[in-house]
Amino acid sequence: MSAARPDAQGHFGPYGGRFVPETLMEPLRELEAAWLEARRDPAFREDLAGRLRDYVGRPTPLTFASRLSDELGCRVWLKREDLCHTGAHKINNALGQALLVKRMGKTRVVAETGAGQHGVATATVCALLGLECVVYMGTEDMARQAPNVRRMRLLGAEVRPVEGGSRTLKDAINEAMRDWVTNVRTTHYLLGSVLGAHPYPAMVRDFHAVIGEEARSQVRSQAGALPDVLVACVGGGSNALGLFAAFFGDPVEMVGVEAGGRSPRPGDHAARFLNERGGAVARPPGPPPAGRRSESVVPPSLGSGSAVGVLHGTRTYLLQDEAGNVLPTHSIAAGLDYPAVGPEHALLRDEGRVRYTAVSDDDALAAFHRLSEREGIIPALESAHAVAWVMKEAASLAGKLVLVNLSGRGDKDLGILDD
Ligand SMILES: *Cc1c(COP(=O)(O)O)cnc(C)c1O
Repeated sequence: MSAARPDAQGHFGPYGGRFVPETLMEPLRELEAAWLEARRDPAFREDLAGRLRDYVGRPTPLTFASRLSDELGCRVWLKREDLCHTGAHKINNALGQALLVKRMGKTRVVAETGAGQHGVATATVCALLGLECVVYMGTEDMARQAPNVRRMRLLGAEVRPVEGGSRTLKDAINEAMRDWVTNVRTTHYLLGSVLGAHPYPAMVRDFHAVIGEEARSQVRSQAGALPDVLVACVGGGSNALGLFAAFFGDPVEMVGVEAGGRSPRPGDHAARFLNERGGAVARPPGPPPAGRRSESVVPPSLGSGSAVGVLHGTRTYLLQDEAGNVLPTHSIAAGLDYPAVGPEHALLRDEGRVRYTAVSDDDALAAFHRLSEREGIIPALESAHAVAWVMKEAASLAGKLVLVNLSGRGDKDLGILDD
């Protein structure tokens, strides 16, 4: 199913597409061609697979969480992306794109980062492959995530502070795109999730598909069955799609967990599929009209601030006010703190194939502590959202086989606990 998506123009139903300035059309076409060609090239696939094995540390294990399972009354298996080199799934995509950069004969990479995890993964693969690396980061985020700024600099990357706007991820993306437009002949924009203009949402998903491919064969051999439920946190949505894609043909339930933050009020969360009662947003009436501006399809009275619109090159669900201005977002997990969601998720939600839900900061924090104490695994606060959902829903999951994507490790979050 997923392999057939998106269509040739990068649409996932009414979502996705390519909403960029004219100067970026040709580089996006060049990138798409390089990616499609590399996918079919056995030498490229062998090179990528070898580096995923010997450098990233794949396959990552699938771990049975036995003490937690006993407590909850369901069988919880964890896909251990926290054990990837650099501590999260993000390097799967960063490595894949960096190999494409070499293939296209480019020498310079720009990237954006919020929490710093994608910046660290990008700086790492650029060091590995000898590419010049510039990472844009909001000054607010630089202060919050100082250890990752130091890591990127140690790895030889230049970290450029972004002072504009809210001085966070959204503004860093704007700056990275500006740099890319200016230096496009030598430079690749290494985008960190299933977001942005075509081909990024599909390409990033494919570079993460290894997560689900491994997990599917591991769970069958270790647990002797397919899972009943897959659970993953959803920021842009790359670790979730990486896990889900291999199971789309199976009778498996899928749950995407967004950042419910402090409350369902606009500005207090980063849940694009949430209404003020904590439910899913209403289906928009028919396909959204063409155009580049944000269109409010969901009535503003919905309360959470989510509506279909265009941000950073793609059409998708987006947290915005009635005038189409992007809303501020909040999450205790920096990697989930972004106003838009990947366009493929928007379609999967409309189709009902994936169920989306949100977990509050407090519940995520409780899960962070509980997994640490019960299993000896300190999860990233992002991943703790997925774990928290399982804890909250334990009664309805009784006896079920639940596979949770543990997208990253929590060392990066220790500073937040002290605040
Ligand atoms: C960045 C990040 C996420 C969120 O990104 P997705 O594209 O939604 O996967 C989740 N977990 C960790 C550990 C991250 O670093």
